[in-house]
Amino acid sequence: MGYNIPLFNLNFDEAEEKAVVEVLKSKWISSGPKCAELEKTFADMLGVKYCLTVSNCTSALHLAMLCAGIEPGDEVIVPSLTFVATVNAVRYCGGIPVFCDITGKDNLCINPNKIEELITAKTKAVAVMHYGGFACDMDKICEIADRYNLKVIEDSCHGPTSEYKGKKLGTIGMAGCFSFFSNKNISTGEGGAIVTNDEAVFNKAKLLKSHGMTTMSYERSKGHSTSYDVVELGYNYRFNDILAGIGLAQLKKLENDIEKRVKIRELYNKKLDKRNLIIPFENYTEKSSLYIFPVVLADGDAQKRDKIRSYLAEKGIQTSIHYPPAHRFDIYKNTVRNPLPVTEYVADNEFTLPMFGALTEEEVNYICENVNEGLKLL
Ligand SMILES: *Cc1c(COP(=O)(O)O)cnc(C)c1O
Repeated sequence: MGYNIPLFNLNFDEAEEKAVVEVLKSKWISSGPKCAELEKTFADMLGVKYCLTVSNCTSALHLAMLCAGIEPGDEVIVPSLTFVATVNAVRYCGGIPVFCDITGKDNLCINPNKIEELITAKTKAVAVMHYGGFACDMDKICEIADRYNLKVIEDSCHGPTSEYKGKKLGTIGMAGCFSFFSNKNISTGEGGAIVTNDEAVFNKAKLLKSHGMTTMSYERSKGHSTSYDVVELGYNYRFNDILAGIGLAQLKKLENDIEKRVKIRELYNKKLDKRNLIIPFENYTEKSSLYIFPVVLADGDAQKRDKIRSYLAEKGIQTSIHYPPAHRFDIYKNTVRNPLPVTEYVADNEFTLPMFGALTEEEVNYICENVNEGLKLL
């Protein structure tokens, strides 16, 4: 069944087509000058020293865990209410993800007040996820991390150019990880980036993203070096110039797209009936990239949530759930240490409404009318 209003719509036009053709004509299609240009542009936009493009955010998260020194048996505190990649990255290093609850029904980011009780002698890092492009409480998180000597990794997939106290998300902790997957604010199909202000982290990630080799083929083709050594067990997590070309076209559109999302958010906030509906982060006033628009039933359950989603689907409105929490997945369900009551509640009562720059005012009004109508039927 086709939806009339999708959850997300690619912001593509001739600019992306031209960018691809330009790279194809250049005959350098693997990691090269376009990746370098994207790295420089993105780093400048974030005001961060170093940026490396990678194959996707999952590899960025893996590299970040390796740079944080996560080894078998080490513990990393993570939210459960995230895409599973945040959690899996800990396991790639043999580490143990330790689930922490979120703050509240209206703040879906990790609860800093629940972090400390999860810290043990084995804890090495905290990986936070800025849900929906809204910042976690980084002051508190970094204060705890400093006190216990923990690394902070920011899964910033939802928040390119979002801000926390004037700083861009992803630039506050040890490293920030971004995704350029199709449905993200910056879409290239697959892709991602890791950013950091720490030169050692940058150097290690750069080495590990390409087999632990001391030089890359583009550098060799430029005659900068003729041979290489392999000094660490690395991976092939490289990005490529075809997709980097698309990424550069997308970066040019990002701020304009966010401005449109800001208007859509204002309309949602105004028109949705909030008697039985919570709009998380409704009072968040800092800049957010507004990757998604989550809502939470104020006093509901999974059945009611599924009912209103079906109702909206009948009306041609696509919705989603962000996220089935990691701790309920088969591979993690027996690993929960502390109860996660807020995560449990939100997992059953959250649904995500359409959010993309091209949504019209008419469409948002139509969505709001139907959500409000659907709420009455619960
Ligand atoms: C999309 C996403 C990822 C994974 O990104 P990929 O580029 O698909 O690997 C990780 N974490 C969060 C929060 C995401 O939204």
